[in-house]
Amino acid sequence: MKKYLLIPGPTPIPPRVLKAMTQPIIGHRSPEYGEIFKGVVENLKYLFQTENDILVFSSSGTGGMEASIVNLLSPGDKAIALAGGAFGERFINILGSFGIEVIPLRCEWGEIIDPQLVAKELDRNRDIRAVFATLVETSTGVVNDIKSLGKICKERKTLLVVDAVSGLGVEELKTDSWGVDVVISASQKGLMAPPGLCFISISERAWEASETSRIYRFYWNFKTYRKFLEKEQPPYTPPVSLVFGLDEALKMIREEGTEKVWERQKRLAKATREGVKGLGLELLAKESFSNGVTAIKVPENIDGLEILGRLREKYGVTLAGGQERLKGKIIRIGHMGYIQFKDILVALESLEKALLSLGHRLKRGEAIKRAKEAYR
Ligand code: PMP
Repeated sequence: MKKYLLIPGPTPIPPRVLKAMTQPIIGHRSPEYGEIFKGVVENLKYLFQTENDILVFSSSGTGGMEASIVNLLSPGDKAIALAGGAFGERFINILGSFGIEVIPLRCEWGEIIDPQLVAKELDRNRDIRAVFATLVETSTGVVNDIKSLGKICKERKTLLVVDAVSGLGVEELKTDSWGVDVVISASQKGLMAPPGLCFISISERAWEASETSRIYRFYWNFKTYRKFLEKEQPPYTPPVSLVFGLDEALKMIREEGTEKVWERQKRLAKATREGVKGLGLELLAKESFSNGVTAIKVPENIDGLEILGRLREKYGVTLAGGQERLKGKIIRIGHMGYIQFKDILVALESLEKALLSLGHRLKRGEAIKRAKEAYR
């Protein structure tokens, strides 16, 4: 059975990228590697929309979240962390485990936090050193207003750190013009490459903060990576094949153009949401929908895990479930990276059949009809 992977990461890999990864391994201190690495960093800068340094780590996204904390802050420092889902909570946990005094700003899962609340908190607490936010809260399918947060933080000279693990290459993100000091992302989502690489952009202000940070670090030390960056090398052995793949994926994105990619993602997301409504289902969020992942409420009388099981076993379609408090209550369709409208149609049609088999009442064919109208 043909398999369809529509989860918010890891995402499917285009054949061009798969092929690039079959090249023979080369040494990471060789001139050939240096050339590829230089191209990767250049294209990442284009995608991040930044002139800042970008460091590449062999790690998943969470490693990047930890790295950004251990290089910028010291135990006892105060930081705000916005959390409207599982990944905002992860920042809170990591900050807490390094002795940072975290001021959590939480909202219902599926909603967004008003940036003005951050402004108020910063004005009340003048000694807050950094604000931690998530571009796309993957667990709820909501996109946060990073542009406004950037303005608020810049005016108050507070560092802004953004987790764009599932947002990069999917949502509009303008690191420099929005004033984001640190952006973290990873290879396995919008970038159409396998898991295993993480990237962090670092502003001048963030480099200054790293000079006074007193948290011990070795593998994650930004300074070591910057020193090697000048030589177009990583300090430690990189996953060479993954870098080949990432290089090719970034070239594909660059050929299409980031504005076009954002636009394509927007259309896919809209079509997905309309299709879901055509199934008689309700979206988790009411606004600020992400263009890379759509979270859908599971009808009261149906078990979300049951839907996912049927989709996988009968139709070869893998969607994601809810995380933590949303487990069993929502399902999520990932539509970032190498996902095309045809894949969405397969997902919607399979979902229609699975729901019917579980007793959900719906108008047959309506989902496809609405999705097609929206996509047009
Ligand atoms: N942040 C966000 C927004 C994510 O979506 C994810 C992965 N789902 C992570 C962080 C963690 O990334 P990883 O699993 O690569 O460590």
